[in-house]
Amino acid sequence: MTDPISADRTAMKVSDEVAIEITKMNKWYGQFHVLRDIDLTVYRGERIVICGPSGSGKSTLIRCINALEEHQAGSIVVDGTTLSSDLKNIDKIRSEVGMCFQHFNLFPHLTILENCTLAPIWVRKTPRKEAEDTAMHFLEKVKIPDQANKYPGQLSGGQQQRVAIARSLCMRPRIMLFDEPTSALDPEMIKEVLDTMIELAEEGMTMLCVTHEMGFARQVANRVIFMDAGQIVEQNEPEEFFNNPKSDRTQLFLSQIL
Ligand code: ADP
Ligand code: MG
Repeated sequence: MTDPISADRTAMKVSDEVAIEITKMNKWYGQFHVLRDIDLTVYRGERIVICGPSGSGKSTLIRCINALEEHQAGSIVVDGTTLSSDLKNIDKIRSEVGMCFQHFNLFPHLTILENCTLAPIWVRKTPRKEAEDTAMHFLEKVKIPDQANKYPGQLSGGQQQRVAIARSLCMRPRIMLFDEPTSALDPEMIKEVLDTMIELAEEGMTMLCVTHEMGFARQVANRVIFMDAGQIVEQNEPEEFFNNPKSDRTQLFLSQIL
């Protein structure tokens, strides 16, 4: 099978520009040391897949990057802005970082279009017409413009997740974080969401994806990170990562999921 993504890998160029710089970052939940000395530099245009056993701290790491969780030591710099408890910085980072979760968190009482225009209108102060045009642009991109006036409950899980992605894109993020975006979906809907993510990757979006979709990792990621017990244990380009895992913990994990 020809693989259009890897054939075109050079077109998905990774730049020298740093998008996220995490240095010696530590986080505790109360007494529980959940993230330990995380060092991670993400370059613009990278597509990073984060994997690891349940409870290893993947979601916590992702959530620290857009300040949904606070870290207690070390630093996180996103697009040159240092994450601190300063609310101005948090606003700035959230406006540049889009996030997509396992559960789509759409507002059930708002239409698809309204879900997509809410934040641009109320947070960004975008005029309604312009916000609607942008929303329709991204709903077309995720291939469901015809659903714009329906409510989330009328859509399939895969469609709702694509709305959630479109909604994030309406805020024009420079970085997208995904936390197991397909793990709540029925198998037949997983592909349509992954296809949307692949398109984003092809367009050069900087992406960090927590996912167990190893096919996606092989096809799209330029780097795979393995986490265990709050640490980054191993990272490599997908080919090396899957064919030649270095640590025992990575080998064990891969033997369980592949
Ligand atoms: P993963 O996404 O890799 O499954 P998480 O980041 O969700 O891991 O969780 C890492 C560890 O932190 C787990 O042991 C989990 O129970 C714990 N944890 C997660 N969220 C909280 C919280 N809000 N309070 C206390 N412990 C938490
Ligand atoms: Mg998680």
